[in-house]
Amino acid sequence: MTTVYLNGEYLPLEEAKIPVEDRGFLFSDGIYEVVRFYGERPFRLEAHIQRFVHSAEGMRLPLLHTVEDLPAIIERLRQENGLRDAEVYIQYTRGHAHPRTHAFPPEVCPTLLVMPLHMHLPPASAYEEGMPAITVPDLRWQRCDIKSTMLVPNLLAKQQARERSAWEAILVRDGLVTEGASTNMFAVINGQVVTHPADCHILGGISRDTALGLAEKLGLIVRQEAFTVQEMLNADEVFLTSTTQEVLPLTRINDRPIGRGQPGPVTLRLHAAFRRLVLTES
Ligand code: PMP
Repeated sequence: MTTVYLNGEYLPLEEAKIPVEDRGFLFSDGIYEVVRFYGERPFRLEAHIQRFVHSAEGMRLPLLHTVEDLPAIIERLRQENGLRDAEVYIQYTRGHAHPRTHAFPPEVCPTLLVMPLHMHLPPASAYEEGMPAITVPDLRWQRCDIKSTMLVPNLLAKQQARERSAWEAILVRDGLVTEGASTNMFAVINGQVVTHPADCHILGGISRDTALGLAEKLGLIVRQEAFTVQEMLNADEVFLTSTTQEVLPLTRINDRPIGRGQPGPVTLRLHAAFRRLVLTES
């Protein structure tokens, strides 16, 4: 049985219910986070909470005691569910309000849900051989830095990738690569590690920050600058980062090989460094 946290209560998943007038359900008026546990320890929990606060501020969601309460809620869920090497999902909405109107209700009673997630890890071969990706137009809004539950453009992009037997959809805005449907995107160009700046066109990934820090420690030159699709296709290496996937090589994009069509040395070094860091931090 899975235990989840909903608005102050610890409940079996089947018993956790949300009113149909919850603005998260009606409007996607909410934010979320996904925190990964390595063993029994959450990885970079403070960074996830900071991003949660940034998202809440961007959406003008009142936080009340949520930030103070979250670490203890997550720890209790870990214990009750016996979580190890797992992920925890946090969703926070503007709560339910009657009648349905776009503008915020005068008094907001937010909904906080925290629950374990089934983790879909990439197969080991993904790291050894690399994975294919496609490019698709980035149809999202101008506040992609907010981790909003309004993910429909991301879902449409990911579905296109699946239908074309690709692992990830790379989003392109005005000819520039922003990020993946659920990942951040990196290219190795002339030996330098390049990724889109953390502005309103991407979600500032916690793994992206981790990878950037590791790249600098390894003495690599890092540039936070947008690159074009053509620059990506001609790059020596392309890889993605995310909480679930860490540092994962992309070796074919739009059916064309990247570099030699195999995971490159920078990607492999960064992923090894990522795994080492996880071991030391957890
Ligand atoms: N971009 C988007 C759009 C995402 O959904 C995610 C996954 N949360 C990421 C990037 C990667 O972020 P993180 O490294 O924090 O998982």
